[in-house]
Amino acid sequence: MAYVAMARKWRPQSFDDMVGQEHIAKTLQNAIEGGRLHHAFLFTGTRGVGKTTSARILARTLNCTGGDPLHPCGQCESCKDILGGNPMDVFEIDAASNTGVDNIRDVIERVQYPPVIGKYKIFILDEVHMLTSGAFNALLKTLEEPPEHVIFIFATTEVNKVPQTILSRVQRFDFKRLTVEQIRSRLRYICEQEGINATDEALDIFAEKADGSMRDGLTYFDQAYAFTGNEMNADAVRSVLGIPPVELFFTLISAIESHDLKECFKMVDDACKRGIEFTPLLDGFGKFLRNLLYARLDAFSPDALNISEELYTKYKSCALELKNGDILRISKMLIDLQATLRYSTNPRLLVETTFARMAWLDRLTDLRRALAAINDPSKANASDEALKKKVTEVQNMLDAEEEAKALRQREESPFAALQQDFAGGYNGDIYSRYEISAAWGAIKTHIADSGDFAFSVALNDTVLETIDLKATPFPIALTYLGDTASDAWGIKQMEEHPEYMERLKQILEEKLQTPVLLTLKTRAFNETELQIRKQAQMSPYELDLEKEPYLAKLKDLFRAELIYSHKLNRPVVPQQAESCDADGDENS
Ligand SMILES: [Zn+2]
Repeated sequence: MAYVAMARKWRPQSFDDMVGQEHIAKTLQNAIEGGRLHHAFLFTGTRGVGKTTSARILARTLNCTGGDPLHPCGQCESCKDILGGNPMDVFEIDAASNTGVDNIRDVIERVQYPPVIGKYKIFILDEVHMLTSGAFNALLKTLEEPPEHVIFIFATTEVNKVPQTILSRVQRFDFKRLTVEQIRSRLRYICEQEGINATDEALDIFAEKADGSMRDGLTYFDQAYAFTGNEMNADAVRSVLGIPPVELFFTLISAIESHDLKECFKMVDDACKRGIEFTPLLDGFGKFLRNLLYARLDAFSPDALNISEELYTKYKSCALELKNGDILRISKMLIDLQATLRYSTNPRLLVETTFARMAWLDRLTDLRRALAAINDPSKANASDEALKKKVTEVQNMLDAEEEAKALRQREESPFAALQQDFAGGYNGDIYSRYEISAAWGAIKTHIADSGDFAFSVALNDTVLETIDLKATPFPIALTYLGDTASDAWGIKQMEEHPEYMERLKQILEEKLQTPVLLTLKTRAFNETELQIRKQAQMSPYELDLEKEPYLAKLKDLFRAELIYSHKLNRPVVPQQAESCDADGDENS
């Protein structure tokens, strides 16, 4: 038996079948009943929402000679003629491939002659915005004074490209995108009629992927049906449509939780091998994070989230090491990634490094732990090998971070303007608590670029000092440096303008994704600072070295010295003279 695509087989045959466009069906039916019919219609809306189908229904309804003015009978000569596929009174023209004046002359020619069977001669022009301006002009005269027996139905996805002269002569109908619910219930109906046994979850996948277009929904349904037959379940549907299964995200979140970079990369590889593209992968992860958070907060029932009890419980009990704040922070990084991805020349690397960065953020605690171990001789002596391994691991993480950062900067530059949406002019970077002091220079630059001169100048000669890396709210002291710091202009500004402190607090909270306790402090330059101040600019390395005693310890341990540093917003681990790998030439 020849297989007829569902999209064709279940195409609506009357206004009553038109899902989601009831407002249009109603208006058209009223006009027909009241005999107040316009001679030109414009159907506009996104693809696959039923514009052409509605045009055909309207044509059939108008020309039917059966008794019911609103429902084509399917029996009369006109109905049969139209169903036959080569109707004498209804002309469908694809304006996308017939754009020129000659094509329109042909239409105008035919307009002169009365209909053969039905009451009207009906011209359906699809994608009408594609016509040339010459063609539009040729059409205009006919539109101004059309013969009684002629009706035009224009359809377009891009109404803004249709000239005003045309728009003012048509009755316009705006077709709505369909909701997930509307598409799902139509599919449910089709399944019932066709004897297809589909799970709710499977139908939801089509409805969500269809993104408002019934035609797309039916096309996906067809694709899956060809593969699954009458037994349709969610797993099979996902596999056919390249939609990531939720297990993939449970793997990813636990890799992030346990700081397992390798598993993050493996997950991306796994997704690629399954033929899943990055856009659905990231969309899927976003939805996963949302469900995870909702389940944890008991904000919605499994029903409301459209997931099973079992899955709901799994959400609740997974990645417990990650706090809700962490999940929000990961979500923010994901949103940034989605915005950046389509500009990327190497999307895979971007996705991988962002996932790695997600896993790396909290690993900073481990870095401190590792360095603390170095600080504690009893632990350090226990296993030199393990220690070296740990240090190499730290180095690798820092490299991954550097790569991610450099990549991000490159990716962000072409559309820096878009980033202005974040936090009132500050870009979307999120820092860990450990990074915030080192990032202060970059943040100040953003503030200066935002154009608030007084606020920006008031922050001169300041550093951020963090007291307790674990406390919440996170204590940060905005510290003014200088011998007579208490007389400094900047600190007076901050004291006199409480709104500056409030703004700074907001910026830091946005950067850290955590509540901040901001205080003001002054102190004289210490020896290191005085020394560094001699240089034009303090290097991030020295800044870190100064405020992170463990880093100095690490430096001592390997008898390393700084021979070269360049500007990066992360600490550069100095090259080790003897036992580390000797092929690094970056510090030459
Ligand atoms: Zn009929």
